Amino acid sequence: MNTVTSRVREDFPFRDAHPDRAYLDSAATSQRPRQVIDAEAAFVATDYAAVHRGSSMATGAATLAFENARARVAAFVGAAHDEIVWTENATDAINMVALGMSDAALGLGGADARARFGLGPGDEIVVTEAEHHANLLPWQRLAARTGATLRWVAVDDAGLWSIDDLAAVITARTRVVAFAHVSNVTGYVAPVGDVVALARGVGALTLLDACQSVPHHPVDLTALGVDFAAFSAHKMLGPTGIGALWGRKELLDLLPPARTGGSTITTVTMESAEFLPAPNRFEAGTQPVSQAVGFAAASDYLREIGMPAVAAHEHEMTGLLVDAVAATPGVRLVGVPAGSERGPLVSFIVDGVHAHDVGQFLDDRGITVRTGHHCAQPLHRRLGVAATTRASAYVYTDAADVARFSAALAEVRPFFGADR
Ligand code: PMP
Repeated sequence: MNTVTSRVREDFPFRDAHPDRAYLDSAATSQRPRQVIDAEAAFVATDYAAVHRGSSMATGAATLAFENARARVAAFVGAAHDEIVWTENATDAINMVALGMSDAALGLGGADARARFGLGPGDEIVVTEAEHHANLLPWQRLAARTGATLRWVAVDDAGLWSIDDLAAVITARTRVVAFAHVSNVTGYVAPVGDVVALARGVGALTLLDACQSVPHHPVDLTALGVDFAAFSAHKMLGPTGIGALWGRKELLDLLPPARTGGSTITTVTMESAEFLPAPNRFEAGTQPVSQAVGFAAASDYLREIGMPAVAAHEHEMTGLLVDAVAATPGVRLVGVPAGSERGPLVSFIVDGVHAHDVGQFLDDRGITVRTGHHCAQPLHRRLGVAATTRASAYVYTDAADVARFSAALAEVRPFFGADR
């Protein structure tokens, strides 16, 4: 057992609760260590109160914990404290940017916001054909609302795209480029620096869907040079119900808040409102206080292991998963070819067996994987399949999990008679 697995194994109660189960679905959502569960529970038990409201001692202590959590998550991704906006999840964060931009087009944030964010007919939004629906549908909406055109980088037969493909789609009219750092289906790792350079060259804003990168390897959002980024706590050992929108401060302070209400304002009259600077302008209503505490505990936990160690461990486990898929007759790897850099997930097609049957078969043998289109229907349509099966690794995945997966995978085609 390598150092990461031996160290973290006992931290995860789910492993003891299900000793005979290999959980290979961390790309969908991750399990939580006791440190995260305990941090949130302890806060709820003793320190919970509404934040940023009132003047009681309880409110002050909860607000301190809430803002301290923001500072720790910010530091985890190389961001300043007030550049992290709590959202419901990554989907919510991306919607916040797209909706804010359509409000800017309506003039809701004033002339400066309209000039920076206000798209209109003739303007172009660029995504890739491999995006998760979370990073596609908000841009479809923005295009529909503003009259801008949605363009996309087509993927190849393996579901991959290159910087040259992107360069061919970007024009002087491109205003936004939105793309995943790591694809949740193909495992493709985007050339972020090159994308940023192309986008900046035409004055376009960039939004990075960092859902599958921030949990798995060191990410410094400021150094990457993107303008906005989105990620979710539940994919990085934290709670559900909270995610983060990161943005460069001057952009966040200018972007109109998509949702309005309590806690977001400086002055309100019966006719109008003045909004606070970021992050508060975006956090309307009662905030996800204990979830923020859990999110920060998750980032502390990962920081203590060390993100380079997390990445190295996952690299090793992913290599084993790829080997298992490559070694099984009639099973085809989707996306990044074996041996190339990829995120810690492996999607595959079992010839002659529907992905849902594959998933059911593996589940019966104690292996949790994900089947379906993984919220990436256009990509699956391009690949010519309705569904794939995906196995994914995280800090608590060990070689025994992969061995169990490998043995069961070898049985799938014989079981369904697809090898005859
Ligand atoms: N983008 C990618 C690449 C994802 O993998 C996911 C989650 N499957 C999302 C966006 C959406 O994340 P959430 O459901 O937490 O908003």
